[in-house]
Amino acid sequence: MDMNETVTAILAYGGICDHCLGRFFGKRSFGLSNDERGRGLRISHALATNIPYKKDAGSCWVCGNFFDNIPLWADRVVEAVKDLEFSTLLVGCRVPPLIAENEEMVWSDLSLADPEPFKSEVNREVGKAVSARTGKVVDFKKPDVVIILDALGGNVEVQVNSVFFYGRYQKFERGIPQTHWDCRECRGRGCEKCNFTGAQYLDSVEEL
Ligand SMILES: [Zn+2]
Ligand SMILES: [Zn+2]
Repeated sequence: MDMNETVTAILAYGGICDHCLGRFFGKRSFGLSNDERGRGLRISHALATNIPYKKDAGSCWVCGNFFDNIPLWADRVVEAVKDLEFSTLLVGCRVPPLIAENEEMVWSDLSLADPEPFKSEVNREVGKAVSARTGKVVDFKKPDVVIILDALGGNVEVQVNSVFFYGRYQKFERGIPQTHWDCRECRGRGCEKCNFTGAQYLDSVEEL
């Protein structure tokens, strides 16, 4: 299938937003957001097949219009970190199982070569929005705080890098969030998974 045939097949599943359409080709090209990819694909599909162009109709079977709420998620994150002093952050997300199933079905039905997962787009877009509002910088390697979005529950969790906060906050212990980088298996006691360090390495946090 060429790209327009693949778009025809994707559109046949039902109404889809530009973010989700574009994300099915998310690892192609560079310097585009997925909604720009989606809009571009919709336009080139209309031209190639010579049918009337129809915009993103605002109802998406893949994500349930999740991306309409990026500003709301950014508000929640800004509220959750407002009393913390930090410079860098990273956003992670717990993906609703239905959304993961929806997109993975299309990946496998159509043997897509370059899709990007929902989680990556959410993390990036919320990270950008929070960064724009707060001036804090996204850091993938050693962020001062990691914010996990619970996409189903509508909550955000803040995890603080305890090494960063130790010196600064030891006098104010009661004000510090208690979630550190504890190993998920043993919760910090030490086990084979964490090589008996009790610590969770950032690379292995599944929401990122
Ligand atoms: Zn969508
Ligand atoms: Zn462990």
